[in-house]
Amino acid sequence: MSDALNTTTPQRSEFLQELRRAATVLPEGRALGVIVFDLRRLLRTNEVYGDAVGDHLFQAVGERLHKLREGKGPVFCVGDGRFAITVQAVSAAILQLAAQQMLKMLEQPLDIDSHRLSVHLTCGGASYPAHTSKPETLLNCAEQALSGAKYLRVRYMDYSDMPESHRLGDWNIEKEVIQAIEQNSLELYFQPKIHIPSQTVAGAEALLRWRSPTRGYVSPELFIPYIENAGLSYELQKWVLNTALRLGRDWLDRYPDFALAVNISPEFVSNPELSNLVLGALGIWDAEPENLVLELTETVLLWERNRSIDNLESLRVTGVSVAIDDFGTGYSSLEYFKDLPANQLKIDKAFVFRMLDHPADGDMVGLMIRLAHIFGMQVVAEGVEDAASLHRLAAMGCEQAQGYYFCKPIPRDAFTEWMHAFDPAQYFR
Ligand code: C2E
Ligand code: MG
Ligand code: MG
Repeated sequence: MSDALNTTTPQRSEFLQELRRAATVLPEGRALGVIVFDLRRLLRTNEVYGDAVGDHLFQAVGERLHKLREGKGPVFCVGDGRFAITVQAVSAAILQLAAQQMLKMLEQPLDIDSHRLSVHLTCGGASYPAHTSKPETLLNCAEQALSGAKYLRVRYMDYSDMPESHRLGDWNIEKEVIQAIEQNSLELYFQPKIHIPSQTVAGAEALLRWRSPTRGYVSPELFIPYIENAGLSYELQKWVLNTALRLGRDWLDRYPDFALAVNISPEFVSNPELSNLVLGALGIWDAEPENLVLELTETVLLWERNRSIDNLESLRVTGVSVAIDDFGTGYSSLEYFKDLPANQLKIDKAFVFRMLDHPADGDMVGLMIRLAHIFGMQVVAEGVEDAASLHRLAAMGCEQAQGYYFCKPIPRDAFTEWMHAFDPAQYFR
C-alpha cells in the first residue's frame, strides 16, 4: 500500500485491500468508517476553464485532504472527482463530525492557474459492522450514501439516514447487474406520451426494468450507475436502442407518426459512437429518424460540452428528436438552454406534482412552457397523476402529458392492448 496521493488513476482495488486490512486490525467494539468525498461541478470546471485546470483542482483538493490526514491514513482516488478515506470512528455522529471538520478545511477557495476557484464537496459515510458485515463492501455503502446526499441535496449523508428505497446494503449489485446484461435479462417497459390538443397517443418512453433474482425489482436510477461504472455504457445503450425499436416496430407500422423515446445517459452523449449507434439501430429495424426521440438531462452539457452539442446537432439534422429530460432540477442556465439542440422540453415531475397545491410551482410550470415555446420547443409534462393537472397543463399550452393518470410503464404487449383500447373521453373529461 502506498501513502502517496495518486489522482491520475482510480485506486478502487487498492482501497478495497485497505478496507480488508483495516478491518482485521480493528480493536474489539470499535467501528470502521468510510467517507467518500465527491468534488461537485468538476465537469463544469473542466468546461469553463479547460481540463488542465479541472485536473489541477482535483489534485489540489486531494493534496489538502492528504495533508489533513497526515499520520491518520492514506487518501485514495476512487473515481473521477472522488476520494475515499477510512476513519476509526465509534458512531455515525462522530463520522459525520469528522467529515464536517474536513469539509470546512477542504472547501476554502483555491487559486489554480490564476483563477480563484470555489470548492464544493458532497460526502457519503458508512460504517462496519453497523451497515455491512463485509468490510470490502463499505465503499459501496458510502457511495450509496453519497448518491442519497446528492438526491436530497445535502452535503453529507450517513448510510443509516438514507431513504429505505435507496439502500442496497452489502449486496453485490454490480456483479448481479452485469450478469443481467450478459444474460439478457433486463427488460424495457413503455409509458405513453399523450398529445394534449389532439387527444391522441403521441408515442411512448422506453424505461429499463430489472428484477434481481435475490432482491426483486430495483429502480433504474440505482442500478444504471453500476453498469456505467463497470464501463458497460456502450453495451447498455446499444441494447436499449435496439430493444426499444425491435419491440416498438409494430406500432410504427400502424401509427407512422409514433415517437419512441429512449433515455441516453448524459456521459454517453459525447461518445463518438453515438451517431453510428443510433443510425445503425434505425437501419436495422427499418425505422425513420422522425420516429425516435433521445431523452437526456441537461447535465449532458457538463460532459465535454462541445462534443456533446456536435453529436446531438448531427443527429438532429437527420430528423431524430432531442428532449431535455427532468427540466428544472439541474443546472439550467439560460445560456446552456439556448445552445442545446433540442426539440422537446420535459418538465420534471416534481413541479407537476406540486403544481396544484403550490402556486409558485404552478407559476414555474407556466414559465417553463413559455420559455420552451420561445426557443421553439414542444413541452412534455411528466408525472401527470390526475385530471386536474391535465386540465391546468392544457390551459397553459403544454403539448404533451405523461404520467400514471394515463398509464404506468408496462410491458410491450400490455402497451399494445392499452393503446388499442385508448379512449380519450375517459381522460379528457
Ligand atoms: P425519466 O426518464 O425522467 O423517467 C420518468 C420516470 O418517472 C420513470 O421512472 C417513470 O416510471 C416515472 N413516472 C412517470 N409518470 C409518473 C407519475 O405519474 N408519477 C410518478 N410518481 N412517477 C412517474 P423510472 O422508470 O423509475 O425511471 C427513472 C429514471 O431512470 C428515468 O427517469 C431515467 O432517468 C432513468 N432510466 C430509465 N430507463 C433508462 C434507460 O434505458 N437508459 C438510461 N440512461 N436511463 C434510464
Ligand atoms: Mg426520460
Ligand atoms: Mg424525467
